[in-house]
Amino acid sequence: MGGTAADKASGRPAAVGGTAADKAPGRPAAVGGAAAGAAAGGPLGEWGTAPGRLTGVTIAAAGPARDHCCVDLQVVEQVAELGAWISEGGVVILSGAGLSTDSGIPDYRGPSGSARRSTPMTYQAFTRDPVARRRYWARSHLGWRTIGEAFPNDGHRAVAALQGCGVIDGIITQNVDGLHQAAGASGVVELHGNLTRIVCLDCGDLTAREALAARLDEANPAFDAAAVAINADGDAELDDTDLDRFTVVDCLSCGGMLKPDVVYFGETVPPERVSRSFALVGNARTLLVLGSSLTVMSGRRFVLRAVKEGIRVAIVNRGVTRGEPYAGLHIDAPLGIVLPHLAGETAGEMSAPIRI
Ligand SMILES: [Zn+2]
Repeated sequence: MGGTAADKASGRPAAVGGTAADKAPGRPAAVGGAAAGAAAGGPLGEWGTAPGRLTGVTIAAAGPARDHCCVDLQVVEQVAELGAWISEGGVVILSGAGLSTDSGIPDYRGPSGSARRSTPMTYQAFTRDPVARRRYWARSHLGWRTIGEAFPNDGHRAVAALQGCGVIDGIITQNVDGLHQAAGASGVVELHGNLTRIVCLDCGDLTAREALAARLDEANPAFDAAAVAINADGDAELDDTDLDRFTVVDCLSCGGMLKPDVVYFGETVPPERVSRSFALVGNARTLLVLGSSLTVMSGRRFVLRAVKEGIRVAIVNRGVTRGEPYAGLHIDAPLGIVLPHLAGETAGEMSAPIRI
């Protein structure tokens, strides 16, 4: 993987111009860690060879209490099989919110997430209802403080390391946090967009989220509301009294309506992203679903396509998923343990001397 991943891992990806370091000066040190070491041949090996790292005992200790019963040996066998699939190459990743929970971003649909109190913003409400839009911006502004400060975790870094080994042909993500790229992955198809970008719905101008956050802070000097909860899409839960005194800002170029460059409920994923994703899945040897319950069709359709094309499907996710009936392998275990182990095993195989 050379030094590329380490270079990219030096900070959060710059969504709109500038360098990653410019955009998130607080991130680089923590992000560098394992990915940078992996590029130099360091921690990747440790992931795979640390004594007892992927034993039943370790997994049971790392997971919730229910893991103590019976997943252990079965999981070890399943992970070994998945490792064999991955070593054949041609893997396409489909990732969801469960991959980012270890970074402190809650998965409101998953087992670790709390039930969402408010319904997600729809495109129609955002564009047509000024009150709904003001309330949304207040919530999103607070939510950004959590998501904007999140760092990639071991799972993100392992995916980037696997990509560096050459076994991954594509990464499709349902997440809008940009953490795959922050960990050093490249060529990521962001199905639902990225919260770090702001788009003007009138002139199409793209600006960085940090710049908008600064403008919103300036326009709302007395806004000191605290979020009750944060959702994976960066939408925080707030009391209504806090929402109504928030001031929204408009596009600096044309005065038009600004919106995070993410796909809302009721909005279609841009066709180009969908066709790129279907092309990746259609050419894959394995579709590997990470941290997604596949509740929404925008992700599940890729699993259905893979099955239709005779492409094998593996799922690593905490809890049940709607893709289970289609998956040849369904591993219910922490991604933060399984993925680094797989990355270490794969890197070990790639560097093994050829025997004659
Ligand atoms: Zn504009």
